[in-house]
Amino acid sequence: MLKFLIIGQGLAGTLVGHRLEQAGHEVHYVDAPEQTASSAIAAGIVNPITGRRFVKSWKIDDLIPEAKTLYANLEQQLGHKIWYASPLVRTLYNRGDRNDWQARSADPGYADYMEDEPNPGQIPAITAPVFAYAGVRHAARVDVAGLVGSVRKKLVQEDRLLSGAMEYEDIPEVLGAAAGAGGRLKKKGYYNHVVCCEGWRARYNPYFSYLPHGGNKGEVLIIKTKAPLLDRMFKHRVFLVPLANGTYWVGATSENRFTDDSPTPTNRQFLEDRLAEILTGTEYEIIGHHAAVRPTVKDRRMFIGQHPEVPGLWIFNGLGTKGASLAPLGSRWLTEAILEGKDIPAEVDIQRF
Ligand SMILES: Cc1cc2nc3c(=O)[nH]c(=O)nc-3n(C[C@H](O)[C@H](O)[C@H](O)COP(=O)(O)OP(=O)(O)OC[C@H]3O[C@@H](n4cnc5c(N)ncnc54)[C@H](O)[C@@H]3O)c2cc1C
Repeated sequence: MLKFLIIGQGLAGTLVGHRLEQAGHEVHYVDAPEQTASSAIAAGIVNPITGRRFVKSWKIDDLIPEAKTLYANLEQQLGHKIWYASPLVRTLYNRGDRNDWQARSADPGYADYMEDEPNPGQIPAITAPVFAYAGVRHAARVDVAGLVGSVRKKLVQEDRLLSGAMEYEDIPEVLGAAAGAGGRLKKKGYYNHVVCCEGWRARYNPYFSYLPHGGNKGEVLIIKTKAPLLDRMFKHRVFLVPLANGTYWVGATSENRFTDDSPTPTNRQFLEDRLAEILTGTEYEIIGHHAAVRPTVKDRRMFIGQHPEVPGLWIFNGLGTKGASLAPLGSRWLTEAILEGKDIPAEVDIQRF
């Protein structure tokens, strides 16, 4: 049995830890709860067709089956639902959009994901008329916050979570590479491996600050309606995603330049304006406004791999805007590299830098 310390218990750390535990290893975490985690506010949308040009998400054919299997395994262990298969209906704004959509759906490998005339459910009744709707098949919502929250509860009960920010100068010591006192971690020299999963704050980790970290700030609203509004996800400039108990996730904004990770009045107004465009004639109450930073990477691929000079020190990061779908396969690549010595796919291996 190997002993692991994971720094950061967002989605990345949670899934890596789960896989390591399933393989029979001991896993401890250090996590700074006062920081806002991207995983705490993400809608968890799995959207196979994205962008203005309606492009298939990278490796989506492999990511979806991997995600379904891993989240089903976690659902069984934790006793609650995590993966919600949900139709996604989106607006086509004009004739050009419709032509592009139809042309794209004729491309090989696309037809199964694209629906020209989807059932829009209650959407036409709650929103202003639109040019046309299109449907994305095999979409889903992952309850990322619910998953991370219930794993955290379990870790606290089992006394495997140290609450607080990792002090990076302790790394050689916890890995057993250096002797001496100091640091706050109880188990000095105890761990065989340390896995860094700090989300966008990995830029402050001196061991991995050399990687080209991005960072994209996003803000969301949570609204509540008296009567049920929607039973499927809807995209009309922003996403409207049904959560539980008559609440809906509305978002998100996207900013590559930011000075902090707090919600702002300007972005709240932006989201309120988009919402007013979507929900014409429906009463709703805004019950939440949150912000966090997505851990983006300049080349839009995950960071997976071992530190070039510190054996046993690994990173799993760069989940960007798509952690819900990327993290299940990414966490498999990382754990197979650590436990079985398998090669990490070159596209995501940090050796590319
Ligand atoms: C507004 C918004 C909407 C989003 N919507 C979606 C979506 O619909 N679908 C989707 O797939 N993805 C979405 N995402 C992206 C998704 O949230 C991320 O891809 C994913 O959750 C990142 O997980 P992570 O574990 O890498 O980072 P995080 O969730 O940020 O977790 C990192 C953890 O590390 C901890 N940490 C950092 N530094 C230290 C330290 N020094 N010591 C100890 N702990 C530390 C933090 O406290 C945190 O708990 C969205 C993100 C945002 C902001």
